[in-house]
Amino acid sequence: MGYYEIFLQPISKYTTIFSLICLLVAGFCSLRQKELKLPLLFLLSAFVFDFIAVWIEAIAWKNQSDSVELWVMFEMIWFLLAMFCMSMAAAAFVSSTVSRDINAYWPAWALGGLGLILIILFTVIIPDGEIIGQLRTILPLASFAYLAVGLGTKFKAKIKNGAALAMAVSVVVVIEIVLKLFSIYLPWWTTPVCYILFALSFLLMQNDELLIKLNKANQDIAKFNQRLEEIIKLSPFPIIISRLSDDKILLANDNAAKTFGFDIENIGYTLNDFFADFHNRQVLFEELEEHHHVQEFEVLMKTPVNNIPFWLLASANIIDYNNDVAIYAAFQDITSRKVRENILENQAIRDPLTSLYNRRYFETEVTKLISQAKQENAPYSVMMLDADLFKKVNDTYGHKIGDKILIELANKTEKALRDCDVVARYGGEEFLVFLPSINEEQACRVAERLRQSIATIVVLTENNQKVTITVSIGVSSSVISDNVETLIKTADVALYKAKQNGRNRVELFNKHDLRKLQEQNSHTTPETEKNIHPVFSSENTAEISLLDGADTQKLRE
Ligand code: GH3
Ligand code: MG
Ligand code: MG
Repeated sequence: MGYYEIFLQPISKYTTIFSLICLLVAGFCSLRQKELKLPLLFLLSAFVFDFIAVWIEAIAWKNQSDSVELWVMFEMIWFLLAMFCMSMAAAAFVSSTVSRDINAYWPAWALGGLGLILIILFTVIIPDGEIIGQLRTILPLASFAYLAVGLGTKFKAKIKNGAALAMAVSVVVVIEIVLKLFSIYLPWWTTPVCYILFALSFLLMQNDELLIKLNKANQDIAKFNQRLEEIIKLSPFPIIISRLSDDKILLANDNAAKTFGFDIENIGYTLNDFFADFHNRQVLFEELEEHHHVQEFEVLMKTPVNNIPFWLLASANIIDYNNDVAIYAAFQDITSRKVRENILENQAIRDPLTSLYNRRYFETEVTKLISQAKQENAPYSVMMLDADLFKKVNDTYGHKIGDKILIELANKTEKALRDCDVVARYGGEEFLVFLPSINEEQACRVAERLRQSIATIVVLTENNQKVTITVSIGVSSSVISDNVETLIKTADVALYKAKQNGRNRVELFNKHDLRKLQEQNSHTTPETEKNIHPVFSSENTAEISLLDGADTQKLRE
């Protein structure tokens, strides 16, 4: 497409070389797009070969000598190569758009083959300068025309700015060549301008390819989301997709609306509104943040309208949803399972008649509470309650009334105490209470208040007879021991004292009782078992757990 005249002036030569370099740079930058690689490689080669051919033509013109035929043949070979590559580029454009059409390459091979035959014929066999001159026009005319057609096939794509510009420039080159046939020559700068315009078209083509890919990716995302929505809608489980940044619900299915009790058409809630337990929610979100997915996580949820709590098993993932980072959460109702678990748990730790904790639970729980209290240097106390003359109640009113009284007694005791106090049924008509942060004096006051409160219990028999009950209470405290068994046993000793002193009263197991007990034990216990307990060792006294071996009945007597 160049003229040898551009090599006659330095300004035209260097401008053309500079514009060709720009074309090559733009071309190589655009090669990153897979679809453009083959056509652009051919096109860039074509421009370079064409430039070399024109350069050789210019040299041949400058050095008119005997070897001019050789120069012309040399030039024509490069020229043919350039035009062959140009046609191959056109074919590659056609093939990349018309579903890999192999037939598109035939014109290129035909042009190359025919050109080669003609060049050999008119430069070697029957040298003819005029025909060679014609070939210099006809070959590029055919190549650029085919290139324009090849780029035209790109018009099938929605985004075609680059192809349109390249095609327009190709058409200009074709016109330029046709004008040459009529000996009308355009100015030398037409070539660098065309190079620059081609360079621009390459960059635009790359941009177009990127936009096409982006469009396709967006279409794929839209399709994926549509499919996801269909699956979610049909799912038998409640499913919610919510935006991570603000918890806004982006999608929910009918089952989720039913479970959480919201209107699917007008949700108006955030995912946060469904969590019944803040801590539980925090743990779930921390897990999600760390692993990006959570499997079979038990969450306590609620209906946002009337705050009814219920247990769900959640599986959640962090996903991209419509350009948002979102949480995909699927739930399974496990309320009945949780209820069953609760029943089993309660069966293990609670007394079936009164629903109070059982003795085993009391001992393990209080052991923990005692070590906690020791760390905080806080006092604590234990009370042991025993219904007075309960055998007589049973004998007089029957076992059923006896049971009823025990239930009332348990209720009254729990109500009269704080939430942090641990109440348990020790056995029969005996109850235990652990009072954290309460010293022995305070414990005696609490016990006295409780005794009076229990005395107000009235249970009616079938014949509307009023049955009342009293209790005796023994108190022991952290002053005596930090061992739960010892505390129970010493409270029991105090309880026995209360019974001895007339029942319906409170007695404290104090340090005086402790010394008395130690004296008794020192006669019966081997040396090695002494000074085991820290409290007593610090007081230089025998360990109270020696009571383990002591006969409390004997103590009572
Ligand atoms: P004291 O004032 O000395 O404690 O006299 P008491 O009659 O309460 O003592 P005793 O240990 O002789 O009797 C306890 C009675 O408690 C015997 C038993 O029938 C009754 N009892 C134990 N467990 C239950 C129970 O679950 N239900 C009923 N109705 N009675 C029970
Ligand atoms: Mg009793
Ligand atoms: Mg008893």
